[in-house]
Amino acid sequence: MTATEEVRRLLDERGVEYKTDDTSDSWYERTTWRSENNLWWTYEVDAIEELPYGTLTLLDTGSNNSMRPAQAITATLGPGECHLEINTSMTAVVCDRCNYPMPSGTVLTEVHFCPNCGARVVEE
Ligand SMILES: [Zn+2]
Repeated sequence: MTATEEVRRLLDERGVEYKTDDTSDSWYERTTWRSENNLWWTYEVDAIEELPYGTLTLLDTGSNNSMRPAQAITATLGPGECHLEINTSMTAVVCDRCNYPMPSGTVLTEVHFCPNCGARVVEE
C-alpha cells in the first residue's frame, strides 16, 4: 500500500471527505482535507519513488512537515481510537490502528493510549 493509499484509507475509516489531485502533476499524488478547526491540509506523496511518507502542508501558511500517513492523520484530526488485538501470526498483541506490538509483559488493561500512534484504547 502506498502512502497515498494509506492516508486515504485512514480518512475513509474516519468518514472524512477529501479531494484528490493525481493527474495535473504526475510526479506527485495529493490528498486534501479539512480538519474540525476549519483548516485545510494537503498530503503530497512522491508518485515515483513510493516512499512510506509524504509531506503534510497547512495550506494557509504553507508550513510543511514530512511524515507517515498515520502521523499526518493524527496531527490534523487527533489520535482517534484503537483496539488491542492479537496479530495474524498470533505472536503479539498489536494496536489495530498502527500495528504497533505491545512489549511483552505489558499489562493490557493498563494501556490507555497506544505508545506509538497515541490513539485512545477502547474495548469492543
Ligand atoms: Zn497505535
